[in-house]
Parts: sequence; C-alpha cells; structure tokens
Amino acid sequence: KYHNELVELKGNIRVFCRVRPKIKEDGGGVMGNIVVDYDRDDNGLIYVNNKGRSQTFEMDLVFTPESTQQQVFDEVQSLVTSCVDGFNVCIFAYGQTGSGKTFTMEGNKDNPGINQRALAMLFKETEDRGQDWTYTITVSVMEIYNEMIRDLLSGDPSYKMEVKMKSDGGLHVPGLCSEEVKSVEDVNQVFALGQKNRATATTNMNEHSSRSHALLTVQVLGVNKTTNVRTMGKLNLVDLAGSERVSKSGADGTRLKEAQNINKSLSCLGDVIHALRSKQSHVPYRNSKLTYLLQDSLGGDSKTLMIVQIAPVEKNLGESVCSLNFAQRVR
Ligand code: ADP
Ligand code: MG
Repeated sequence: KYHNELVELKGNIRVFCRVRPKIKEDGGGVMGNIVVDYDRDDNGLIYVNNKGRSQTFEMDLVFTPESTQQQVFDEVQSLVTSCVDGFNVCIFAYGQTGSGKTFTMEGNKDNPGINQRALAMLFKETEDRGQDWTYTITVSVMEIYNEMIRDLLSGDPSYKMEVKMKSDGGLHVPGLCSEEVKSVEDVNQVFALGQKNRATATTNMNEHSSRSHALLTVQVLGVNKTTNVRTMGKLNLVDLAGSERVSKSGADGTRLKEAQNINKSLSCLGDVIHALRSKQSHVPYRNSKLTYLLQDSLGGDSKTLMIVQIAPVEKNLGESVCSLNFAQRVR
C-alpha cells in the first residue's frame, strides 16, 4: 500500500532528454551552429533556438553534451535495481538516426552504455542480497522490423516470432531463446551473438538498425531461501528505430512501407504512454507489436523511462523539435 502511494505520488513515467556533443559529421557553416541551450538553475529545462525564436521544453531531467555515460547511468540505476524487487521496467531511447540512441544504450568498448552497466549492476545487487535470496538472471535479444519480430539469440534469426498472452495477463513469445547470464563475460558473449545475428541477411547495418527496434529483455527471478517467496521482474532496454520523417515522394515501395511501420509503432508507443500518463481507461497496447510485447511492462506498477535523444545543431533542428514535442506529449 505504502509503495503504491509512493508510485502514485511520483508517477512512474519519466522523460529525460540527452543532447549529444557536436561531432564532425555535423559539419560546419550555419547548419553546424549549436541551437540548444540549458538552464543554469533548472536541470529539467532545455531551450531550442528555432530560427531566432527561443522555445522551451520541460523534461524530468536534461543531460547536456558534457554528461558522461556514468552520470546517465547514475540517474537510471534505481530503475534497474527495482526489477530485483519484482518490478517491470522499460527504458527507451528515442530520437532521429544519429542522435545518440545506440551510444546511450549500447555505448562502445571504452564507454559502455546502459545495457552493460545495468547487467553489471544487477549482478552486484543480486549478490548483495544473496544471503536470503537466490536469483537467476536471463536475457533475450529481439528485433522488431516492419511489425515482425525475430529472435537474435536463435540459430534461425528469421522474422517468425509471435506474441501471445498468457492466462495471467503476462505476454510471452513462444520459443524465444533466453540465456542465463552469471557474469559480465557471459553478457558480452550473448550481446556479441545478438549483434552477429542482427547483421545476418542485412546488407547495410546502419540503415537496417535505424529502421528497426532493438530490444534487450532481462528477467530477474528471485526465490527467498527460507520462505520460498518468489519475485519476478523484467527490465526491457529498447533502442528504438529512428524517428525521422521520411518524405513520401522520395521513397520507393519498401522504404515507404518501412517508414509507415516505423511511424506507426513510434506513434503507438507515444499513444500508450500518453494514455497511461493521463490515466485514460483504454490503453491501445494492441496497435503495434512493440507495445503489445511490452504490455506487461508498461502501465500498472511498471516503471517507464523515455530518453529522448537530440543532436545539437541547426541541421537537425526540425527533427529535434519533433522529438521534443514527442517528449512533451508523453510527459
Ligand atoms: P543513433 O543510434 O541514434 O543513430 P548513435 O548512437 O550511433 O546514434 O550516435 C551517432 C554518433 O554520435 C556516433 O558516432 C556516436 O559515437 C556519437 N555520439 C552519440 N552520443 C554521444 C555522446 N554522448 N558522446 C560522444 N559521442 C556520441
Ligand atoms: Mg543506432
């Protein structure tokens, strides 16, 4: 009861914004001008210079280009550990291609992102509680492309997985591989296999990853050694497809279909979070594969974090404003 009151009070949907640094691909000239600014006193405000007019957007928290991977993780780690207590959690990275979604979620070798850090934290947290509880941590890796799902840990990573609802209201994907992990080395192996399989039958990995959602699901099962009480929490870490609008005129048939599916699933995600946020009685989970799959981790006492990624320069202004408007709608 006390816990639920707390959730009620604070709400369980958070929207953060992360602005990546300017990179050489942003180019020079007017198009390379920095168009975002921050408030010195309020770390929830971000200003965008929209053709000479300053537009203000309010987030729960804004990470500037100076923010490190560790600083970002510091703000999400309590969400991560709450799945050890049996909560379901979703963390999404949203934004146009090139805005830093993959950097935030996956990071790189020198600078690991949320995915790696979350698993390392879960190993530590479950070990700390090991006197009274036994924990099993398993991971699954999926991709959703054109409203089709594939299992990236399977020996046959083709798009053939389906989402089914269990009698208890939980969602599952029959046949989905889930690997038990006990160490960071295990995790690295599983991630490497996922990446290898994601590249299967893909000619341009960058293009492909910008048009598909990458989903890492971590399940934490706890059993109390004396009482036999069980907890089951799920952490869903999602690197979303690029949110950029694709012009209808330039796109061929396949492109257009992809673009429509991406727009549809991202707007469905927005609709679902907006409906939860505004406490609407009908939440349209079934309108996309992503929201249907995550139905048991969105709403109820689950916790949701949307990290809206922004590029800092003039060239990306239009898409940045769209992303910030999306953030405002779900917040
Ligand atoms: P997305 O996944 O949204 O397409 P990426 O994560 O691939 O974008 O980021 C695009 C480029 O910007 C990459 O070269 C990445 O290393 C770099 N980048 C993104 N965010 C940061 C950051 N916070 N600090 C340094 N480099 C970043
Ligand atoms: Mg990416």
